[in-house]
Amino acid sequence: MRVGPDVFVGLEGVVNVHDAATAIGTGRFKTAELDSLTRSIFEALAEDPNAFGLGERVDEFYASIQRRRPIEALGQKCGMDSPDAIAVDLHGNIMTCQNTGAKGVHKIGHVAEFDAIALDTATHFAFRDECMSCPVVQLCKGSCMFLEGEFFKQSCANEFAFNMGIMMAAVWHLTGMVVVGVATGHSV
Ligand code: SF4
Repeated sequence: MRVGPDVFVGLEGVVNVHDAATAIGTGRFKTAELDSLTRSIFEALAEDPNAFGLGERVDEFYASIQRRRPIEALGQKCGMDSPDAIAVDLHGNIMTCQNTGAKGVHKIGHVAEFDAIALDTATHFAFRDECMSCPVVQLCKGSCMFLEGEFFKQSCANEFAFNMGIMMAAVWHLTGMVVVGVATGHSV
């Protein structure tokens, strides 16, 4: 095994709260921890624009500004809102997404009855007021569309803190300025 300063460490994103265990475990961030997460992501990306492999996200944020990408053109984070995408297991069961299984609520149909497949286990971010006015929606893309209630609330807080760090770094590299506040219901 080779280790050293050049070893790549990638970061897919922040934990979403999918169940009760995650809610009291790895997905639970207190306010101070969320602030620290934002600061850490910002500082890492300010120093290295591709820290944790997040340079693509910074570039996508720039592209969203450059092309004035409207929120209506933005797909859900997972891509499962696309009419061309389904998650199917080897038994032909159709599920909410590839991260779920066909047991319980996540089974939304079967390939044998294709026209009856209905994604009724999800809320697209277009139907969430907080997402439609969120300053980091172009990066977060509405988090997980299956989540509701307290699980969504904590996941949203986690996503906001994480993506705000990326957005702050993008603004820093573009302007040399540090974001100190955003005119929204969210606080940085
Ligand atoms: S941070 Fe929260 S409000 Fe903003 S887009 Fe993500 S889930 Fe929606």
